[in-house]
Amino acid sequence: MTSSILKASFYTFGCRLNQAETALISSKFRSDGYDIVPIEEKTDVCVINSCTVTEQADAKCRQLIRKILRNNPDAYVAVVGCYSQTGWQSLQKIDGIDLIVGTAEKLNVLEHIGGDPVKGVETRLVRPSILKTPFTIEADSTNIPTTRANLKIQDGCNFMCSFCIIPFARGRARSRAFWDIQREAISLVESGYQELVITGVNIGTYEYEGQSFLDVIKMLLSIEGLKRLRISSIEPTTIPVELIDIMAESEVLCSHFHIPLQSGSDKILEKMKRLYNQSKYLEFLDLARAKIPDLLLATDIIVGFPGEEEEDFAESCRILEDYMAYAHVFPYSERQGTASQRLVEKSDSQIKKKRSKRLQEISQEKKQEFYQRFIGKTVRVLTEEKDRSGRWVGFSDNYIKVAIADNSLSANQLIKVQIESVEKNMAIGSVALEEK
Ligand code: SF4
Repeated sequence: MTSSILKASFYTFGCRLNQAETALISSKFRSDGYDIVPIEEKTDVCVINSCTVTEQADAKCRQLIRKILRNNPDAYVAVVGCYSQTGWQSLQKIDGIDLIVGTAEKLNVLEHIGGDPVKGVETRLVRPSILKTPFTIEADSTNIPTTRANLKIQDGCNFMCSFCIIPFARGRARSRAFWDIQREAISLVESGYQELVITGVNIGTYEYEGQSFLDVIKMLLSIEGLKRLRISSIEPTTIPVELIDIMAESEVLCSHFHIPLQSGSDKILEKMKRLYNQSKYLEFLDLARAKIPDLLLATDIIVGFPGEEEEDFAESCRILEDYMAYAHVFPYSERQGTASQRLVEKSDSQIKKKRSKRLQEISQEKKQEFYQRFIGKTVRVLTEEKDRSGRWVGFSDNYIKVAIADNSLSANQLIKVQIESVEKNMAIGSVALEEK
């Protein structure tokens, strides 16, 4: 390829951790002199950060790769991440992919492409074993134009839930060096990020030279200039109870917990090999709700797990109704090599469809209900971007999506907003008083 400034585009499937990693990868490309362009544009290099959490995720990834190869036939195409790790054989069958990089080397995809990406020679596979040792990350995502920065603190998981392919795709649990998290966090705050979101596969299991997840939280909260710290999805059995008091008292730590439930039924939880039962799960929620005013609780629920009867499903519905502001709903997807694939009972696609729809309806109602509770109240919003009608949109500390029609605003402003009304998935407000 000959153009003097090379262009690169990125596409991320899946979780927040993947987003964090794409930010790190694209940051490296930017530092290397690449011009970063949207995925729809003609580009020299295209990097797809893949996901394999469900069959549908695999299919969507293959679909996008084919579209890119059709629309941008001269682009050097690299596929990295979880699907590259577990489904590399399927990817190798797609003609035109130049590079497949598994989990261990995904952040080094630029180095594997090399200085002068040459399209169409062969499909190269880089898939060394995933180490179990602590890690550091050379890059940081300070030059990514977003207002919230995802901060990766951990990777992999040792829990082996029976439905989950992630331990195969991302390997065993390992933690990022404590000092390296601190280094990137300080650099992010110094370069203007007001909100950091802690990410990883199983962040509550963080452990590095005697430092725990709680120590990471305390260290981040002590960083001068950090206005907001958010915890992304965290496994129920790994949340330190002390966190509740810290969250209740801190203005920086957001009142927001996303705690995967997966099923409300003890019978199904056992088959899923989850490490808690319903009452243990709810015990924590009750405690958190009692101490943290305005707390937003959200969750992930799988529907149609093999053997899930109506009464099991009803338990999931009940917990969503009684506790949550919303749920991410996943129809059960059988993944090769997982323990649940070997279960004799099989899941029924019609039932999965019906139950997904029902849970999504409840989730929608619950979100509406939660948002409505804040009409007339003042919340703190970090402005992110404009929506199609030109309103500034951002999230409150407790993750309410708020739109404000005010042309004097700009991105990355932390402002007080009075909530006036609620439309679908959005609260509408006006500026109350700007934070100093
Ligand atoms: S805790 Fe369970 S669901 Fe979450 S990544 Fe680990 S094995 Fe998968």
